[in-house]
Amino acid sequence: MMNKIGEINFKAIKRISPSQFYSMKNCAYKSLLAEAFDKRPLLPLSPNAYFGTVLHKMFELIAKGIVKSENDFNFEFDNQIKALEEDLKQKGFGFFVPLKVKLKNFGLKKIQLKKHLKSESEKLTTLGNIKLHSEKWFESYDKLIGGKIDLVIENGNEIELIDFKTGAITQDCLDDEGESYSEIKNEYKEQIKLYAYLYFENTKKFPTALSLVDLAKQKFPVEFSVNECKSLFDEAKTLLKSTNDSINTKSFSANPKQENCKYCLYRPACSFFHKKLETDFSYNDVIGEVNNVKKFQNGNLNVFLQNGNKNLIIKNFSTKDFEKLNNYRNRQIRIYNIKKEPTDFVYTVTDTTVIYE
Ligand code: SF4
Repeated sequence: MMNKIGEINFKAIKRISPSQFYSMKNCAYKSLLAEAFDKRPLLPLSPNAYFGTVLHKMFELIAKGIVKSENDFNFEFDNQIKALEEDLKQKGFGFFVPLKVKLKNFGLKKIQLKKHLKSESEKLTTLGNIKLHSEKWFESYDKLIGGKIDLVIENGNEIELIDFKTGAITQDCLDDEGESYSEIKNEYKEQIKLYAYLYFENTKKFPTALSLVDLAKQKFPVEFSVNECKSLFDEAKTLLKSTNDSINTKSFSANPKQENCKYCLYRPACSFFHKKLETDFSYNDVIGEVNNVKKFQNGNLNVFLQNGNKNLIIKNFSTKDFEKLNNYRNRQIRIYNIKKEPTDFVYTVTDTTVIYE
């Protein structure tokens, strides 16, 4: 059976989280699709995304003081990885297993994360009046904005919010003179500023420091003002309202472009993206009418798609897909997660390739 998207039942999004804000700003339609599909992705996640959830969980356990020693760490980490690998196998993604072989930097990231274990001297200095809250939920009075803050450190009047990131926190930019410099990603700055205002609305105290911390335990302070946090807070609520309003007016705000769509897991349900695929061949997805399905003696199966006046060749399907694909002759299909070959309009199938009609 070919995957199929039936009728999409859009639902109002009840609450926006600080981590969702930037993505919703870039393409509100993506958030509506995620809600319509109950946040169940329509395409496989990358193994790195799955691994990121383990790293984040480990960070939480360390921050809460549940994982204290290297032995605790190794035991818990191995358990988390085993559970994840089982889950991946059950979802049909056994080809991602074993993660330590399939993932680049698996060992390095594990070593870096261990640096977050507190040394004996650090444990002593964190005693006293300092209060730590890990993964604490905060929501606005009207419940329209809500999310968990990774770590809150309260030391008298000094209050620091910390957001932990498993990927790169900065990106390279160019100044007016063409010199390159590195800057904290905007989405992370806006996210933590929203947390700051959430914290304020709940406690009546404004944080005195906002920081992002990476796997290597590097800390990146984020400058902020109360006014800008407040205005982002208002902007998030306005965005939530206009996004929900678009369900009734059907004037959806979609923004199909490479940086938004490349990692969007709702591409199979997005008509704006499909339209884009009709003329843009820069993606690792294609759309077209099945022209021919050819089996070769070496066991390879190629599919030939017609997209406008372009002929696309998608190579290396499994021969067991022959019947399925052959039945779709002269009908339109969409193939996601393929790899572009150096020759124009030629692609190959990958482990995560998925076909939708
Ligand atoms: S595919 Fe692109 S345009 Fe469509 S919802 Fe996803 S990000 Fe938005």
